[in-house]
Amino acid sequence: MTGSVHTVDEQLVAETVQHERTNVFNERLVASAYVSPLGIGFVAWLQTAAVGALQALEWGAMIVCVELLIIWFGRGFRKAALGKRPVDRWLNAQLVCCGLLGLMWGAATWFVWSPDKFLFYVTTLCVLVGVSFICMVVMAPVRWAMLPFAVGLLILPLVQLLFIDNPVGREIGAGWVVMIAVQLRYSRDLRHELVRQIDSSVRNLMLVERLTRVSSELTLANSEKETRNAELNAVMEQLNRLVTFDQLTGAYSRRHFMQELDRQVAVHTRHGAPVSLIMMDLDHFKSINDSYGHGVGDRALREAALSTKAELRDGDMLGRVGGEEFLVLLPMTTLEAAIILAERLRASLAAVGLAEGTQTIRISASFGVAELRDNEDATSWYRRADDGLYRAKAEGRNRVVAAA
Ligand code: GH3
Ligand code: MG
Ligand code: MG
Repeated sequence: MTGSVHTVDEQLVAETVQHERTNVFNERLVASAYVSPLGIGFVAWLQTAAVGALQALEWGAMIVCVELLIIWFGRGFRKAALGKRPVDRWLNAQLVCCGLLGLMWGAATWFVWSPDKFLFYVTTLCVLVGVSFICMVVMAPVRWAMLPFAVGLLILPLVQLLFIDNPVGREIGAGWVVMIAVQLRYSRDLRHELVRQIDSSVRNLMLVERLTRVSSELTLANSEKETRNAELNAVMEQLNRLVTFDQLTGAYSRRHFMQELDRQVAVHTRHGAPVSLIMMDLDHFKSINDSYGHGVGDRALREAALSTKAELRDGDMLGRVGGEEFLVLLPMTTLEAAIILAERLRASLAAVGLAEGTQTIRISASFGVAELRDNEDATSWYRRADDGLYRAKAEGRNRVVAAA
């Protein structure tokens, strides 16, 4: 994105305004060519009465030729403008037509002239004044369009007025010049007003276009940001899962479990509610790995976690803190209740049979149980449970020993 949203390309504005006003000029000129037969018919009717139908017909045919040229050039102009090609050639042709048109309308005074019909002559001039006012509005959008028309319209009546033997001929001629001069001046004002209107609507359009573009860019950027955010959230969630849970057994990770242990110590310090810890280690696990392979060892670990979880209540936590070492945290549980639970865990684990080919592999575990004492920290609590486990191993495994 370049430049501010509020600025527009001045050169582009100027080109578009120029383009637009020549378009308006062409459209108005062509439209006037279609309606001019009305004016032609009216003047021809006046002239027929004064000088006969043939003269009127000749004069009307001359203007109609110019109007046909205007319609034809107008089509060329429109096609070029639509195809974004230069329109200068067509514009110049239309300007020449403007001059011709002035000349032809002015020629009406020649065709109508009859020394004894001065009133008809003046009436024709009045019609020409009306026609020139209309043409002034039609040609206003382009700077040099009115001038050739005005010159064309002036020449013949002026020359004629000079030679008419009539007491007011010169005064009428002077009035004719003044009127054309006023029209030229007024046509300039009309042009400035039109350019101002086109300029402001072009600027508005460009701003709207720009705002629409900027807003769709923003929408796109926003949706990209949202997609990134969703991806990031998914990655964060996955990371969180990896940090919180053990991938093999689904039990809590060592890191998460140890944090929970500290939290339980803090809760106990504040509320004094009983909380117990069971440390559990699979017996002779190395020999399972050695005899049946790591795959079977992993399966045994998963089964051990499953059978343990099945015995726990909501709020109890199972964590895998070493290779085949698990911890069970039991909030609101006394040592006696924890020993009973550990015994249940031991019995359910001993009942697990892993089918391996034709054989059934039995697993068992030893348990150390410790209830958190008042003013004890997590390390000491953990070490006492570990001592219980050590003693259970020493006493022959597959048993539960409460910590001292
Ligand atoms: P003990 O009754 O004294 O506890 O004997 P043990 O063989 O279980 O004890 P030890 O600590 O010597 O052996 C633990 C074994 O657990 C060693 C290692 O190969 C195995 N192990 C640790 N982590 C994994 C694991 O993720 N998968 C598998 N399959 N085995 C593991
Ligand atoms: Mg072991
Ligand atoms: Mg071990």
